[in-house]
Amino acid sequence: MNASLEKLKFNQFDKFPELVHAISPRCFENDQGEIKNFSFLGDDNFGKTKDHLKVFLESIGITNRSLFFVNQVHGDKIFVLSDASLASSETMKISADALVTHLSGKPIGVFTADCLPILIYDPRLKVIAVVHAGRKGSEQSILFKVVREMGRVYGSRPEGLITGFGPAIGGCCYEVREDCVRPFRKMFPDETGWFRDGLSGKYFLDLIAVNKMEGKKAGLLQENIFSMDYCTCCSARKMYSYRREGRTGRILSTIMLRP
Ligand SMILES: [Zn+2]
Repeated sequence: MNASLEKLKFNQFDKFPELVHAISPRCFENDQGEIKNFSFLGDDNFGKTKDHLKVFLESIGITNRSLFFVNQVHGDKIFVLSDASLASSETMKISADALVTHLSGKPIGVFTADCLPILIYDPRLKVIAVVHAGRKGSEQSILFKVVREMGRVYGSRPEGLITGFGPAIGGCCYEVREDCVRPFRKMFPDETGWFRDGLSGKYFLDLIAVNKMEGKKAGLLQENIFSMDYCTCCSARKMYSYRREGRTGRILSTIMLRP
């Protein structure tokens, strides 16, 4: 199928010829000229989901390969895909919120709709990672733990990692109760830029700012953290937003080392 779609990309990852990556938009145009919404997960029958995954992967040049993803549970578990014989149908049963691999030819991905998707690349050791960093995962320092795990398993040095933050609900739209802000106050008692006061005792939480602080804590260099600063809730026509729509589709953020 020759689908036409506007995917989001990081220029900083495009500099590496050994990498393929992209983030899916809400819609694509199929070869009959119809506009379709991407449906990767949820109540749709699996046939359509599989079909749409194929459409998206083919649009970025990944053909005849399955996407490796995990069962995301808003936790801090990290799955290291190191067994080349493992099937994607097996990894999808594993509960985790990040995937790390050195294996080439295996696209890894996370699904989000407001939570922050993060792609990581170690150009020295050729290791990639994807992270699902929502409020709960960020509270559990998921990005920090992924960077630490890449160091433990592969010897990655934080200062050499390139990190891309995809579209997520921004500090402009993410209004939360005080109890949602409290854990971050404890984690970052000296920082203030990651929230602002809202109405009637509520706050606007900036997940991207929180994760930049997490990245810094993990040893990433500020100049190696690239954020699209793209708010899903402000751009619901182009991106899925759970906050805006409730039950909705998912954005796929994927990265692969070319075989
Ligand atoms: Zn917004």
